[in-house]
Amino acid sequence: MKGIVFLGNRQCAVKEVPTPEPGNGEVRIQMKVSGICGSDLHVYRPPEPRDWVQGHESSGVVEKLGLNVTNLKVGDRVTVHHHQGCGQCYYCSLGDFVWCPDDKVVSGAFGEYVVANERNCVVLPDQIDFIDGPFFACVGTTAYAALRRLGVEQYFPQTIAVYGLGPVGLSTVRIAKSMGTRVIGVDVMEERIEVAKRCGADATVNAATEDPVEAVVAFSGTEGVDYVVETSGSTGGRSSIIPSLRREGKAALVGVGSDDKVINPGDMVYRRITLMGSVVFPIGWLKDFVRYCAQTGLTFAPAVTHHFRVDDGVEALRIADEARCGKVVFDWD
Ligand SMILES: [Zn+2]
Ligand SMILES: [Zn+2]
Repeated sequence: MKGIVFLGNRQCAVKEVPTPEPGNGEVRIQMKVSGICGSDLHVYRPPEPRDWVQGHESSGVVEKLGLNVTNLKVGDRVTVHHHQGCGQCYYCSLGDFVWCPDDKVVSGAFGEYVVANERNCVVLPDQIDFIDGPFFACVGTTAYAALRRLGVEQYFPQTIAVYGLGPVGLSTVRIAKSMGTRVIGVDVMEERIEVAKRCGADATVNAATEDPVEAVVAFSGTEGVDYVVETSGSTGGRSSIIPSLRREGKAALVGVGSDDKVINPGDMVYRRITLMGSVVFPIGWLKDFVRYCAQTGLTFAPAVTHHFRVDDGVEALRIADEARCGKVVFDWD
């Protein structure tokens, strides 16, 4: 089969590689749509080569069963939680595979076939399109988890500022809108701001040309927004969080990157601000989120700006790395 391997220093190659065989408790999935994630780029940019097929955002059809697979059958349409876990330890028992001491990322989504443990697979209902599979596997459910941890509810008119409009930020815009909140999106790339508008953002700000905090506070109609989801991981994004919030406002920090210490805990006290970190999601939340999208009809298709075939993998990675785009996906049909 064909797959994309990373050669280091922003180089990659489309190679002929052996088709993986499913082991005990594993299934082989034929890809239908797979996504390029920001965390793939953290592996693509450094000098170290990675001599195995990359990509961790899969959706496809179960095509072969290994031994002792009990809950899946050939032909099932699935998405795959991108952290494997050991299945045995305390954190795996919570479904929080990301904290398993023996965790590794389920790799291979830039190849035609992915082997995954059946505990990582979640069946997609018929009304869910494969285009949404990569979002469930990683970025979309990451956005859902941030909103769920913040306790965003539908009972009260609420405002959210999303800092960073890459795939996680765009997913946050989609979900927050479907929950009935008013959303303002902030980025420094005009192309991403345009995608956020298509994704339903009520307002947008280009922080390269406008003061984002001023715009966010004006948008709130009061002294600040109820929630911030920070997905950029940048110094500018993080230092805007607290002044963007109203009193008793809450923020989730999702993006990684900057090491600058830009948050002063003293600024939180009198305004009773809550800040929380949010990383990935337990597998049960992925199942809840698939059900939520099936019931509401929410789709992430408006966040996808580029479709590629695996043969054009070099160009696909270049486009994603440039960050002037929404979600970049590979189509396999
Ligand atoms: Zn990802
Ligand atoms: Zn474990």
